[in-house]
Amino acid sequence: MPECKKDILNYDRESLEILFSDIGEPAYRAGQLMDWVYRKKVDDFSQMTNFPKSLMDRLKKNFQIGSLQHIKTVSTRDGTAKYLWRLWDGHTIETVLIPGKRRRTVCLSSQAGCRFRCPFCASGAKGLIRQLDPAEMVGQVFFVQRLYEEKVTHVVFMGIGEPLDNWNNLVRALQILNSPEGMTIGARRITISTCGLVPGIKKLQHFGLQVELSVSLHAVNDRLRDRLVPVNRTYKLSRLLAACKEYREVTGRVITFEYALIEGINDDDEDARRLAEIARSMKAKINLIPCSPVGRAKFRGTPERKLLHFRDIICDYGALVTVRNSKGSGIQAACGQLALDRMEDKNGEAKTALRTGFVKGRQEGWE
Ligand code: SF4
Repeated sequence: MPECKKDILNYDRESLEILFSDIGEPAYRAGQLMDWVYRKKVDDFSQMTNFPKSLMDRLKKNFQIGSLQHIKTVSTRDGTAKYLWRLWDGHTIETVLIPGKRRRTVCLSSQAGCRFRCPFCASGAKGLIRQLDPAEMVGQVFFVQRLYEEKVTHVVFMGIGEPLDNWNNLVRALQILNSPEGMTIGARRITISTCGLVPGIKKLQHFGLQVELSVSLHAVNDRLRDRLVPVNRTYKLSRLLAACKEYREVTGRVITFEYALIEGINDDDEDARRLAEIARSMKAKINLIPCSPVGRAKFRGTPERKLLHFRDIICDYGALVTVRNSKGSGIQAACGQLALDRMEDKNGEAKTALRTGFVKGRQEGWE
């Protein structure tokens, strides 16, 4: 049975200091290790030449630096690239890199699968398989940066999974992504996207980092939202909007409402007016997304002419609106198209692998 060692990408500065103090090493070793990993991008302990040989050997025996196995990359002419990774237990996840003029955005996955099963989204088709640990989230940025050889400037949690449904691991990942000794990605360049998990929004509003919040609305009444975003059956629109308003008041941050336009379903003039009213009431932004075709789903994206008409109504009502350029649909990398089933590992042996990964505090032991 293959064994997976503990992953260094799970540790922030503080937990690394604890780790080193357990074996009598000074606290500054934590900073040295982070410098090797995040600045010099080294993934082999034997290259850490300011460590004594005995420490290198001990690290090698107990830890690894990142566990994602790169399987393949597919890309489009505009530079959008989708990366497929195998996890330690054989499941697979995807990450998308979206290069822009002055930014390189990584859209990362936070779970293998998703329990919320929105009908237009491939990621939820098989339900939740498991949570990703912090290293598996940080690792997507770490390895994309190495493969792409340029600094990632922005991170959006809009890949497979609902990030607020994996709160504890998300928090640690955010700390490492944002830390000046970690991935050094500014908090305002990190976006958390949620389908409307009200308790998660409340936790995020009290979390110290000034990350951006994006809410997938997709419908402006409960009848339709119950169908399109099934979490709405638990957290109705009125509760979600109250939570968004409170988040706005407590953090002072502007929320973005994501709205995927589906032909004949949520794209009439009245929908546009109601959406504009909601956004104006809390000074939120609206991001219209042309709905991408997913497998055999019966939804079709609203044609461009109608989409622009929908946008104009929102503008006339004085709300702030943009239309997302849905890059990557040709490689099944646009919104709602990331999935597991195409790449799942059929290797039963890998799936029974032993994980000895993320554990907190002083129990993080050495052999
Ligand atoms: S849209 Fe988001 S919440 Fe809904 S199934 Fe897909 S990943 Fe899950």
